Amino acid sequence: MKAYRASILSFATDREPGPCAALEEDGLLVVGPDASGRQRVQASGPYRMIKALFPAVPIEHFPGRVIAPGFIDMHNHFAQTNVIGSPADGLLPWLERFTFPEEQRFSSAQYSADAARFFLDELLRNGVTTALSFATCSTESVDALFCEAQQRRMRLISGLCLMDRHAPAGVLNRAAPDGSRNACEQSLLDSEALLQRWHGADRLGYAITPRFAPSCSEEQLRGAGYLAQRYPEAWIQSHVAENRDEIAWARQLFPGSASYLATYADFGLLRRRAVYAHCIHIDDQDRTLMRDSGAVAAVSPTSNLFLGSGFFDYATADRIGLQYGLASDVGGGTSFSPFHTMLAAYYVAREGQSKAGLSLSPQQLWWQHTAGAASALGLDGVIGNLQPGCEADFVVLNPKATPLLARRSAQAGNLDELLFAMIVLGDDRLIERTVISQAEDALFTIERP
Ligand SMILES: [Zn+2]
Repeated sequence: MKAYRASILSFATDREPGPCAALEEDGLLVVGPDASGRQRVQASGPYRMIKALFPAVPIEHFPGRVIAPGFIDMHNHFAQTNVIGSPADGLLPWLERFTFPEEQRFSSAQYSADAARFFLDELLRNGVTTALSFATCSTESVDALFCEAQQRRMRLISGLCLMDRHAPAGVLNRAAPDGSRNACEQSLLDSEALLQRWHGADRLGYAITPRFAPSCSEEQLRGAGYLAQRYPEAWIQSHVAENRDEIAWARQLFPGSASYLATYADFGLLRRRAVYAHCIHIDDQDRTLMRDSGAVAAVSPTSNLFLGSGFFDYATADRIGLQYGLASDVGGGTSFSPFHTMLAAYYVAREGQSKAGLSLSPQQLWWQHTAGAASALGLDGVIGNLQPGCEADFVVLNPKATPLLARRSAQAGNLDELLFAMIVLGDDRLIERTVISQAEDALFTIERP
């Protein structure tokens, strides 16, 4: 076992109106293996009290630092790291001009492994300890990402992108080399084989991954729905209602469905553990459909602002009870940093569709990227928090990482002011250390030089 002394940030286990975070000013976090050897939080609380309960445990002290749960990124694309910040007129031109040519390169196992290494290290450097990530349509890309995540003992969820039409041949799913199966059949067989290989291996999870309805034939969506029913513990990830051109296209391709979102329901792809990125241009009927099915939204504000897609409607989502969490959506999103994502979410809520203009509290923003995201993924009590029993994924934050942060955080009169100073002024420099729960005794850490 090992203990860490610092200020400790944690969250109430249920989401309630009003403040949900608590900061233990002089806290002690005790971490140790469970029966299966996985590192979990054993205790967390005031230093004096916890120290007395664990007198023999070695303590590492971080004066002036804040230990907080590792961030959870509910939606991103590991194969788009190289196209981050590519200028385009909107989603569809951006895909054609930059994203598809880059994703084509991931048919190489070597290229995929190099990209996966950089991507995962970049997540960890930014304090992100869990991600729900799209791979590409090549099985090589999926294996590469899972292999690298497994080596880092990260909790990561991914899956083979399903896309058998409406994109250049090089990025679509491939038919069997001997011609015995078409791309749709092969993609579904590959998905099931990858799911069986990776879902539940160490801390990895599989997500059935139709890219978005317009990119999938009806047969492929039907097959994805079949897998979703057969493997109820696997996740589903896709996109919906990001952009008006995309919606018009989806409506044209699936005229029998009541809405773009309803298309997914019609193929059995709305259920708990189904995560839909964006959910911007949806109505109350759609929100109700999501809520009732247990599906959740991955809110991707830097991406939505960058591509001019629109604003997630927080007030209406809350009114209806649609669950959501925050996501970078790299490379449509502009940053790996959870601080940039939280700040963009603040702007979106202020200026978005809701007439009142919502002011999201700093605690609410932080919760959406940690405990709230865990809950949306069906992983509450497992990650995203530092309550006893949670897996020991956490970050050590230095609120004095830059001159301006040091000056501003010194003036913070309460927890909200401290959190908001970090959200507004923070970036990867705030993350002094990222610690990953590991099956062995040692903890994997990334440390700043
Ligand atoms: Zn996306």
